[in-house]
Amino acid sequence: MRYTGLIEKYRDRLPVGDSTRIISLGEGNTPLIKLENIPKELGKEVNLYVKYEGLNPTGSFKDRGMTMAVTKAVESGSEAIICASTGNTSAAAAAYAARAGIKAFVVIPEGKIALGKLAQAMIHGSTIIQIKGNFDDGMKIVKEVSNHAPVSIVNSINPFRLQGQKTAAFEIIEELGSAPDYHCLPVGNAGNITAHWMGYTEYHEIGKSDSTPIMLGYQAEGAAPFIKGSRVDNPETIATAIRIGNPQSWDQALKLSKESNGWFDAFTDKEILATQKMLTKKEGVFCEPASATSVAGAMRDIKLGKIPEGSSVVCTLTGHGLKDPDTAIAQCDQSAMININPTLEEVKKAILDQM
Ligand SMILES: *Cc1c(COP(=O)(O)O)cnc(C)c1O
Repeated sequence: MRYTGLIEKYRDRLPVGDSTRIISLGEGNTPLIKLENIPKELGKEVNLYVKYEGLNPTGSFKDRGMTMAVTKAVESGSEAIICASTGNTSAAAAAYAARAGIKAFVVIPEGKIALGKLAQAMIHGSTIIQIKGNFDDGMKIVKEVSNHAPVSIVNSINPFRLQGQKTAAFEIIEELGSAPDYHCLPVGNAGNITAHWMGYTEYHEIGKSDSTPIMLGYQAEGAAPFIKGSRVDNPETIATAIRIGNPQSWDQALKLSKESNGWFDAFTDKEILATQKMLTKKEGVFCEPASATSVAGAMRDIKLGKIPEGSSVVCTLTGHGLKDPDTAIAQCDQSAMININPTLEEVKKAILDQM
């Protein structure tokens, strides 16, 4: 059977009725790719997978939550949605609002949003409210505004978002036959790690998985409240999608980390970018910087033996690399570009020089 999106596929596990009008762009069902070259390089026997969420319709996992949030907003008669965003939530909100025929207002930090995400929010016709502040400032305002204006908030504090996002765990269990031993995620607001834990425990309870994974959350060093143990006032990182100092799902994330025997860790921007590049060059997988923190974490903990050999490990690649072309180009060697005349001789020489 062919499904048009995750709500149709997982209808019996999601809060929708038979008559609910579903707002979908065919999200979910993303590839689980087994890494081949990176484990070899580590010299460790592990089954290391990446769940490539960048292949969702707007290029990030946010679509899983947004199909549910917008479906429920429309069902409740809402004519507008609002979110604060580091970029991907605004892209998803803009697209799903367009699909539903309602308005989207997106609040973004001025100058701190990756180019691809801004392009999406603009082209889908959302109203973009740029603030002189960071995501945490925007989130605070959005929470207040939604109490004073007729708009539905579609940030991950909207419980329908997490309901949609939990389906990623369902897909992984269905593909592997059971939950992996470890699941690694980049953590910003900690909505996604919370949603994954919901999905894993739900499938465990109904007997679709023998076990639940150990949940590992990775942050950027300049925006690592879970490592610090308290909120961070001025979060800074090149991984703009996780440039968050005041996680909205703080309590849930601490609780699930403990319940699953998991841990948090953090990486420098340099380490994050090196991992992003490694994934593109060694495995052919292009994710955005924030996403690479999950693999950076898995690699470090496999190397240290904190994740033992023989384990199965899934890393979520939260967003597509094309979201942030500036950062990608900036870290490439510009001399790799060869400028020549369009003659056979010069092209042949250019090739032979490289062999
Ligand atoms: C939203 C986002 C995250 C962080 O997810 P949280 O649910 O806020 O923890 C990580 N990576 C990308 C690409 C994102 O868009």
